[in-house]
Amino acid sequence: MAIETQKFFNEAIQVNKETRDKEEEISEANKRLAEPFGNADLAAPGPVEVKSDDDFYNVNFATETVDEEIKKKILELFGSLEWNPISKNKNNVDHWVYTKRLVFKMSGTEIDTARFLPAGSRIFFLPSAEIFKGCIVHNGESKDIFLFGDPFSPRNLLTLAHELGHHQYDLKKQAGKFDELTGLDPDIAEILRSEREASLFALRRLWVALKKRPELKKDAITFLRDFAYKSYCSGGLVLYWQRRPGFDSFATGNDEYWDNWWADQEEENWHEENLTMFKRFQNSEFYDDWKNSGKNKNLVEEDDLLDSFLEWIDENETNQDFWKKYGSIFNLEP
Ligand SMILES: [Zn+2]
Repeated sequence: MAIETQKFFNEAIQVNKETRDKEEEISEANKRLAEPFGNADLAAPGPVEVKSDDDFYNVNFATETVDEEIKKKILELFGSLEWNPISKNKNNVDHWVYTKRLVFKMSGTEIDTARFLPAGSRIFFLPSAEIFKGCIVHNGESKDIFLFGDPFSPRNLLTLAHELGHHQYDLKKQAGKFDELTGLDPDIAEILRSEREASLFALRRLWVALKKRPELKKDAITFLRDFAYKSYCSGGLVLYWQRRPGFDSFATGNDEYWDNWWADQEEENWHEENLTMFKRFQNSEFYDDWKNSGKNKNLVEEDDLLDSFLEWIDENETNQDFWKKYGSIFNLEP
């Protein structure tokens, strides 16, 4: 089966439209998400543990020394980028630290990077960076994740979960779990798909914990969707337009022009996708067996069923057979 790329551009327009007047809301959310749960000195190599006062959150890892070879690699990676964090004094290459494995818990939900990354992968922090940013890059068979900004902030943890989502997406794509994109500009649509899938992974992983903090949950969605995903939507649409014959830069800056482009907008809300996925599962041949198993037997409320469903996916995130069996139901294409 193939997926029309138009669906992705349609959604990008929708996201752009919905976030147009949200600048203040986004900046407030980002400010709250930058507030760290706790602090630790990362200057010396060794074990680090940070907990929030209320035990909602804790993180464990051991930092390693960044040697000359790694420094060279960091400079190669980031030395030439437009937002060049290295060029600022605070973002000096000497300030990077890394860890081979990080475990963080939010209200009982655990994310252990060793479970989600290939052996030999590393997570780098630049705590002194004034900007927040994250990325994941190949390092032979393994992956390196780079996180700018306070490692103990909710924003950085969401970014880490998002980057882990990129790796999971890559694995599923390699295994043929995602349909081919056909139509206009499949390369741009593919970027949008990987970004939305990575963030949906992050939300799915943390959903049960986030639900216990409604404001944090709201901020997380604002950050992942209205801020991070939106930036890819805007960038993608600009590229999309530039490739059209007779591209008119004035017209694309005109809100009304966007509004009228696709009158037939999808109304479905992006962050409701977990529910959509669950409904899809409910209508599948597999639902009855699942509902009659273990604790699900006694669950009645849709909310409880959804939680249990998400936990179940969670437990099987790295289980190949599971994705072989259910993958086509769980694909989250718009
Ligand atoms: Zn991303």
